[in-house]
Amino acid sequence: MDFGRRDHLGAKNGHLTIDGADVVDLARQHGTPLYVIDEGRIRNNYRRFAAAFPDADVYYAVKANGHIAVLRMLAQEGAGADVFSDGELYAALLAGIPPERILFNGNSKTDAELRMACETNVRVSVDSLDELRALARIASEANKEVEIAFRVNPDVSPATHPKIATGLVQSKFGIPHHQVLASYVEALSLEGVRLAGIHCHIGSQILELSPFAEMMTRMMDLVEALKNELKLELDFIDIGSGLGIPYAGTAPTPIDLANTVLPIFNARSRALDIRSKLILEPGRYIVGDAAILLCTVNTVKEAHSTFVGVDAGFNLLLRPTLYESWHEVIVANKLGKTSDHVYTIAGPICESGDILARDRRLPRVEKGDLIAILDAGAYGFAMSSQYNGRPRASEVLVNKGEAEIIRRRESYGDLLTGQNIPPHLL
Ligand SMILES: *Cc1c(COP(=O)(O)O)cnc(C)c1O
Repeated sequence: MDFGRRDHLGAKNGHLTIDGADVVDLARQHGTPLYVIDEGRIRNNYRRFAAAFPDADVYYAVKANGHIAVLRMLAQEGAGADVFSDGELYAALLAGIPPERILFNGNSKTDAELRMACETNVRVSVDSLDELRALARIASEANKEVEIAFRVNPDVSPATHPKIATGLVQSKFGIPHHQVLASYVEALSLEGVRLAGIHCHIGSQILELSPFAEMMTRMMDLVEALKNELKLELDFIDIGSGLGIPYAGTAPTPIDLANTVLPIFNARSRALDIRSKLILEPGRYIVGDAAILLCTVNTVKEAHSTFVGVDAGFNLLLRPTLYESWHEVIVANKLGKTSDHVYTIAGPICESGDILARDRRLPRVEKGDLIAILDAGAYGFAMSSQYNGRPRASEVLVNKGEAEIIRRRESYGDLLTGQNIPPHLL
């Protein structure tokens, strides 16, 4: 079997391996469903991305995979963090990511979250004038000055699933393009905030380069207007991310992205005589292909399709149901066997939409076989739930061929965490 660009995967005695570890052994040892994460792959992905942008800062988008061990290794690599909630901020700081390299994003932050941003000395990406006024008041009361950027909506439409396009004019994210200048003017008049940057993010799983070029141009147009009209020189220009990965087929690389945006960024910066730092916020690219989800076949049923019923569904990997996403599927204990059957892989959840993969050509599948869903590291476990009374899976981290449990399997008791029976029901 040729794993192509996924060179952390391999085959040994007909079994799938990840960083040299036999996944059939891992499943036997730890049970399924099981997430297996490859530390080396995450580090290499980070280094590849950072190397493509040697003068930029890379802020990992924590929402893609917020496991504390993942955050810790990225902190060691020198990553900053893009956080979207108080909980993500808490975890990023705990993992050792320095506050000066954390940007607190979000379109609907609570006052408590804004207070936490002030107290922890992180920067805030402000998404509305309401938020600006609240933050200025909270910071002033605390005798602080918070560095801010505005999240702007550049109105570009990448060809991706509509649920993950975030830079369209209809999107809930960001300050509308025509209100950006007025927002900076208002911020200049307020105590408690210092204008340090500008921020955007046009969507996720983007496989074409032209939307990035369009976004970079529009961002530099705004930077130029801020300089010319407000004499404002920004410390940073954060262009988010959205670089897609090749779940199937091919995808642009970080170098392709750099070759697309850097010439625009550099030329316009030179023309304006500004030295703003470029920031990027990759999530999916860093962790997406670094984890697999292992599940066991419970049943094979010939019906309208031939359904392979496995022990993981959208409770553990929501993307196929939410975005109609395609994930590569492998029968992990039958590598090298001829793929002469067609199967639909169904989860155990009581919903018709709980299908992980449709009409896949695979070797003959039987009860007890081990199925590996590839590229499950981004927006996988992070979006998991206990729906249908299913304890969440455990997670194993493989590092140089050695596996360690980094999350224990949940128990039935975990399903009841925080619940109690009121006295009248006792
Ligand atoms: C989700 C998100 C990212 C990361 O997107 P990917 O497609 O995973 O790279 C970056 N920045 C912001 C603001 C986001 O919301």
